[in-house]
Amino acid sequence: MISPLTSNLERPYLSFLLPCYNESEVLAEMYKRVKGVGESLQKPYEIVFVNDGSSDDTFVKMLALTTEDPMLVVVDLSRNHGHQLALSAGLQCCAGERILVLDADLQDPPELLPQMLAVMDQGADVVFAQRRTRRGDAPLKRMACAVFYRLLQRLSDTPIPLDTGDFRLMSRRVVDQILQMPERHRFIRGMVSWVGYRQVPFLYDREKRFAGETKYPFIRLLRLALDGIAASSTRPLMLASYAGALFAFLCLGFIGYALYSWFFVGKTPQGWTSLMIIVTLLGSVQLLVLGIIGQYLGRIHEQVRGRPIFIIRDIVRGQTSAIKK
Ligand code: UDP
Ligand code: MG
Repeated sequence: MISPLTSNLERPYLSFLLPCYNESEVLAEMYKRVKGVGESLQKPYEIVFVNDGSSDDTFVKMLALTTEDPMLVVVDLSRNHGHQLALSAGLQCCAGERILVLDADLQDPPELLPQMLAVMDQGADVVFAQRRTRRGDAPLKRMACAVFYRLLQRLSDTPIPLDTGDFRLMSRRVVDQILQMPERHRFIRGMVSWVGYRQVPFLYDREKRFAGETKYPFIRLLRLALDGIAASSTRPLMLASYAGALFAFLCLGFIGYALYSWFFVGKTPQGWTSLMIIVTLLGSVQLLVLGIIGQYLGRIHEQVRGRPIFIIRDIVRGQTSAIKK
């Protein structure tokens, strides 16, 4: 569990949360645009920057901004922890009643906030921005992401929406639930989907990166994908168990065939039948045992993850009507 660092602070209406890793080139423009949106709210807000161990002057520029803006909070991580942990640290430090998470590179336009707030006003706990188009990304990346999101949706235990990154507006109670989850491998979008409540998509066109380079080259993207699948699902393990059981069954069939050939066909080379039986029997026993281990491992994985076993949305108690006839 990550205890919130904001419980004794006054809660602003909204927190903007922006993880930044070597975003020096976009920082000034991003701040200007986010600030503009914040001011237009005409309600208390805060802007939380997380400096994820940048090696350029991102942090220096952030600090310079804090001297003029009391709404700004800068969280400086000790080194580069990666996007998902930077987000987790940021969530721990956000005090807002509502929290908008967005990328620092302006691929997620902050100006969409009022429309997202309007959706939340109608009772949503999460308004997640779903990419209608993503012109800004290279074709190969778009393709890799499309495959990943579809694979993830098939594999994960609770449905994770397609083409949805970390750009989303969340209510305080959702963020508090996320902070309650003690798992170390944190795949935030999967965790948010898992929490439940009412989650509503909001379609948008993903812009081009304003400046600088993507921090997710192919290898990092692949690592995120594997992390995402392993964190959100024990299905691969279960699939492996079922495949093990199926092959073990097929092996038994093969043993039958080897014995049949030996008894009735008779033209088998010497030693072939016994060799085949030993190899297949050992193979099938191993597969079966691996499958059984897989089942237990899946359960241990879920136990160790330590998520709450249920979340109550509300409790409504019956009452006598105040107006008596
Ligand atoms: N980011 C981070 N730590 C990292 C990598 C990325 O905080 O180790 C931030 C980055 O500064 C940006 C967001 O995560 O605000 C998304 O990264 P990026 O835009 O490079 O990813 P892409 O949009 O290309 O997938
Ligand atoms: Mg980006």
